Amino acid sequence: MSLGSDALLEARNIGLSFGDFVALDDVSLSFRRGGITGIVGPNGAGKSTLFNVLGGQVRPRHGAVIFAGQDISALPAHRRARRGLTRTFQISRELGALTVLENLLLAFPRQPGEEILPVFFRKTAVKRAEEEAMEHARALLKRVNLWRLADAPANALSGGQKKLLELCRALMLEPAFVLLDEPAAGVNPVLVGEIADFIRILQGEGMSFGIVEHNMDLIAALCDPIHVLAEGRVLTSGTFAEISANTQVTDAYLGGVA
Ligand code: ADP
Ligand code: MG
Repeated sequence: MSLGSDALLEARNIGLSFGDFVALDDVSLSFRRGGITGIVGPNGAGKSTLFNVLGGQVRPRHGAVIFAGQDISALPAHRRARRGLTRTFQISRELGALTVLENLLLAFPRQPGEEILPVFFRKTAVKRAEEEAMEHARALLKRVNLWRLADAPANALSGGQKKLLELCRALMLEPAFVLLDEPAAGVNPVLVGEIADFIRILQGEGMSFGIVEHNMDLIAALCDPIHVLAEGRVLTSGTFAEISANTQVTDAYLGGVA
């Protein structure tokens, strides 16, 4: 396990409450540059809330989010995405009605400065941006074997294919870091393997990840280090072998089930 100076993304002393309920209680943890960092913990531990704080969807009461050495706590989600920090989102009912390809094209950011260009140049710039987006979308869909379904509505995809589409949507932004919240939930085992392989390949290309997941095979295969959250706190961090041998961790899971 390696923490600290090689961190690409860090949560520092994050605190967040919903009314009287403390969802995150002074959470500090980091995500390795070039690595795949796991977050596990019982339901209600605060995992998704933490990802919302990191992604900029929710503001914490206190604490800071550091990305590539800079405090990004005050930045809204779209500006974090522009800096290379993004996350997957479930394909909503509305997006499900659109085709697979349209889902990707919608994820592409508008070109900076587009609005201030004269009309002639703007048209050219927009056209070029659209062509680039199309090229990028086609390449991504081919990589995950969904190009043949490009014109199908997203709703027609299986659970696992939807997860791949969600990941591709995030990849349209060419991120340095992607947060994945339960990428294997509701996915058949064959596709879980494909998703894991794809994440590994992307890691090999230099991308870093944070993954929340209940599928321990996926966590064991991909993640180091792994942070264990329980009741809004970091219980422990370590390799899969280390956290599996920790009785506090097993107790927390049993407590979560009871
Ligand atoms: P996890 O992803 O680890 O299962 P969450 O981060 O989704 O847990 O939720 C942590 C706790 O915060 C849960 O008890 C949940 O009910 C509560 N919670 C999450 N979001 C809200 C919200 N918007 N309003 C009130 N309570 C919330
Ligand atoms: Mg969750």
